[in-house]
Amino acid sequence: MTTSSETVSDTTAETVPSDGGPKRISILGATGSIGTSTVAVLSEQPDSFTVEAVTAFGNAKNLARVAREVKARIAVIADPNGYAALADALEGTGIEAASGEQAILEAAARPVDVAVAGIVGAAGLQPTLAAIRAGSSIALANKECLICAGSVFLQEANRAGVTILPVDSEHNAIFQALGGHAVEDVEKVVLTASGGPFREWSKAAMAGARPDEALKHPNWSMGPKITIDSATLMNKGLELIEAHHLFEIDEGRLDVLVHPQSIVHGMVAFHDGTTIAALGAADMRIPIAHCLTWPDRGVSDSPRMDLAKVGKLTFAKPDTSRFPALTIARDALRAGGWATNVLNAANEVAVKAYLGGDIGFLEIARLAEDTVDAARSAGLDRSPSTIGDALALDREGRRIASAQVARFAAKTTLQ
Ligand code: NAD
Ligand code: MG
Repeated sequence: MTTSSETVSDTTAETVPSDGGPKRISILGATGSIGTSTVAVLSEQPDSFTVEAVTAFGNAKNLARVAREVKARIAVIADPNGYAALADALEGTGIEAASGEQAILEAAARPVDVAVAGIVGAAGLQPTLAAIRAGSSIALANKECLICAGSVFLQEANRAGVTILPVDSEHNAIFQALGGHAVEDVEKVVLTASGGPFREWSKAAMAGARPDEALKHPNWSMGPKITIDSATLMNKGLELIEAHHLFEIDEGRLDVLVHPQSIVHGMVAFHDGTTIAALGAADMRIPIAHCLTWPDRGVSDSPRMDLAKVGKLTFAKPDTSRFPALTIARDALRAGGWATNVLNAANEVAVKAYLGGDIGFLEIARLAEDTVDAARSAGLDRSPSTIGDALALDREGRRIASAQVARFAAKTTLQ
């Protein structure tokens, strides 16, 4: 299963409702940044979609508001403590309320035309798989699914015969730029990176970067985890791995360019010398709408780019000495599925530790690298061949990374 245009066009029928009526959608991670943008897309085209399930981790009030707005059939909150508040807020609406991880899986397993995978982190793997196994096509924002379980995740999608449509703006751009061509025609795929809030900071300044500074993304408004990943450029590293899986393209043909204007999201250079780029405003409603209406195109009021106003588009090679996460992710991609799995787990632990004030900004990438090295030394360098393997390795990666956090934190205290 890939999003190479060949595979996608092969399975066109599967994302189109058989009766020609509105498409049925579920939103996994409905209260987050991707979830909110998805709701905005649906509200622009109310007759084109109906919503089956909306899910969230916590914040019952917010989830209930979303469920009412999109007239979902069921709203599920992962945190069991949120059930009473959710049920209360939905009383009299006819919308079912449920809670707990199992209930999230059951809601995700309700067949729909497209399930939006908008949960953050490897926590999204099981719910997204439940949707795949139910035969629902996936609008994939949750890149950690692929970083954690790449090959086995895609095997499941293949087995179920479902289409994976890329929501991530770079991958959505590349998918569109590929435009029906086989990956054999491609010389190079380019992902752009804004460079994040520390694009021009020295390494010494970055060492002392506070979470509130790292959370100020210059161009995109996103959830906290991906915003920190954008500041370290780990996000771009994870996206290289994501592109490798989605487009079945080897690491050597994947390139990154820093493009601070965030107008060109991705490019495909073909062997004949032609390069096709996809451009647009930095607004996730655009790729989400593309995935939800695909293979057709809908109409959206999302902001338009104004190239005359932007004036200049600039591109530069990333500085991997200040942003080592990019090299660490490339190394993991070359090492194999075990390494990307552990890298993802370690990065999730490290980002949480940084936001909690336990480690410094530069230690995020260092901790991720050390964890992959430690996993190799511990003999964990065997790539998962089942989802169970991937989940077990993810747990082990988190255990090693948490021990590293304690080590780093102790060092900081001693200084
Ligand atoms: P977010 O933190 O804003 O939202 C995450 C959502 O997942 C929330 O609804 C939350 O309640 C839910 N959630 C969190 N942990 C959960 C758990 N354990 N079980 C069930 N639900 C849980 O995150 P986001 O920025 O919307 O990102 C979501 C995913 O999309 C990430 O994988 C991110 O990398 C990817 N992505 C986001 C953007 C963006 O613009 N935000 C762009 C590209 C890709
Ligand atoms: Mg992206």
